[in-house]
Amino acid sequence: MIFEGLSDKLQSALGKLKSKGKLTEKDVKDAMREVKLALLEADVNFKVVKDFIKKVQERCVGQEVMESLTPAQHVIKIVNEELTSLMGDVQSKIMISSKPPTVIMMVGLQGAGKTTTSGKLGGYFKKQGKRPLLVACDVYRPAAIKQLQVVGEKLDIPVFNMGDKESPVNIAKAALSHAIKNNNDLVIIDTAGRLHIDETLMDELKSVKSEVKPHEILLVVDSMTGQDAVNVSESFNEALGIDGVVLTKLDGDTRGGAALSIRSVTKKPIKFIGMGEKLDDLEPFHPDRMASRILGMGDILSLIEKAQENIDIEKAKELEQKIKKQDLDLEDFLEQMEQIQNMGPLDKILGMMPGMGNIKDQLGDVDMNGKEIKRTKAIVQAMTIEERRNPSILNASRKKRVARGSGTSVQDVNRLLKQFNEMKKMMKMFTGSQKSMKKRGGFA
Ligand code: GDP
Repeated sequence: MIFEGLSDKLQSALGKLKSKGKLTEKDVKDAMREVKLALLEADVNFKVVKDFIKKVQERCVGQEVMESLTPAQHVIKIVNEELTSLMGDVQSKIMISSKPPTVIMMVGLQGAGKTTTSGKLGGYFKKQGKRPLLVACDVYRPAAIKQLQVVGEKLDIPVFNMGDKESPVNIAKAALSHAIKNNNDLVIIDTAGRLHIDETLMDELKSVKSEVKPHEILLVVDSMTGQDAVNVSESFNEALGIDGVVLTKLDGDTRGGAALSIRSVTKKPIKFIGMGEKLDDLEPFHPDRMASRILGMGDILSLIEKAQENIDIEKAKELEQKIKKQDLDLEDFLEQMEQIQNMGPLDKILGMMPGMGNIKDQLGDVDMNGKEIKRTKAIVQAMTIEERRNPSILNASRKKRVARGSGTSVQDVNRLLKQFNEMKKMMKMFTGSQKSMKKRGGFA
C-alpha cells in the first residue's frame, strides 16, 4: 500500500497526543521529533523535512485551539494542512489550449513509465471527450514504437509514427500537421528516454520543444526511486523547463518520499499519479486527499467540517451551561439528537472520531437513524413539561401513558431514557475536557 510505513508512523506519533487531555509544548516537540524521523525514513528530502517541522511546530505552539476540538486533533489538522501545502495545496490541472490542438510533450528517463503514461493520459482525456493523437518520437528504444501502437490500439486512440529513421523533431512537426488535418485536439508526444540524463538527450528534447512549442511539458518519474526521482526532476526542470510531473508506480511505493519532496524542491506540481500497470490506473493528483490518505484522517477532517457546518455554537454553549448546572432535560436531548443527525448516521460519525470506538460500544444498540429520531420526538412530545424537565418522575404508569400517547411501547420509552442518561454522561465528559482547554487558553 502507498505510504504504508509513513502512514503508520505518523499516526502512531500523533496518536500518542490523542491519549492526553492536555498538551504541553514538550508533548508537541516530542511528537514532532517522531514525525521528523518518520518523514526522513520515508525518504523525504532532508531540507523539506526541516522546514516542514519548523512550520508545524510554530503553528502548533502559537495558535489558539479551536473551540470544540481537542488540542491533539488541532495538531493533526495542522500537520494535515502543512502536508497538503508541501504537495502544492491545490490540484494542478493540464493547461488545455483555447486554440487546439493542445500539445503535451512527455519526457523522462527510460523505464519511468513514459510510454505507458502517454497512453493512460490519452485514455483519460478521451473519456472527457477529447480526440487525442499519440506520437511515437522514441526512435532509439527498439520496442518503443510498437509499445505505443499496442497501447493506442487498446484505447482506440490513433498513433502517429514515421518509423525509427526520421529525427524526433521531424516526426513531431509532421504529427502536428497530421493532428490539425485529422481534427485531433490533443497531441501527446512520447519522446525518447535515456538511462541517465545526458546532454544529447537534453539537446534533442530542447529541439523538439522549440519546434512544436508544447503547452505542457510533463516529466514522468518513477516514485520508487525516491530522492533520485527528485534529483531527476530538478535536472530536467533546470535544463528544459517542465510544467509538471507525473509520478508513476506509486502503487508499489511504500515510502512516498518523492511525492512529498518534488513540489518543494522543484516548485513544479505533481499533476498525475500512476497507480498501476493498467491503462486506467492514472489519477489526477490532489494534494489534500493525498495528505489525508497519508494521515488516515480523511474522515476526521470531513467530520470537523461537518461539525463546524452543523453544530450551532450558541446552542451548544447554552447546553453546556445547562449540563454544568445539571439541569439537562429531554427537550435538550431531542435538540442535540437532531443536530447530530444533521451530520449523518451516528454510527459513521462516531466511527470517524478518534478514540470514540469505546463510546460507540457503550451506546450499544443506539440507532439514531431518521425513524428513531421521529420516535424520540413523539415520545418526548407525549410527556408533560414536568416530565421532560425531570424524567426521573416517570414511573410505570406515567411511562405507560407516554407510550400510548406516542404510539410506542414502554420498552421504547425505557430505551430513550437510557440513551438520555448515556448522553448526560457523555456530555459531562465533553464539558470536562472543554473546561480544561479554556483554562489553558490553548497550549502555548
Ligand atoms: P518508459 O521507458 O518510460 O516508456 O517506460 P514504460 O512505459 O515502458 O514503463 C516501464 C514499466 O513500468 C512497464 O512495465 C510499465 O507497465 C510499468 N509502469 C508504468 N507506470 C506504472 C505504474 O503507475 N504502476 C506500476 N506498477 N507500473 C507501472
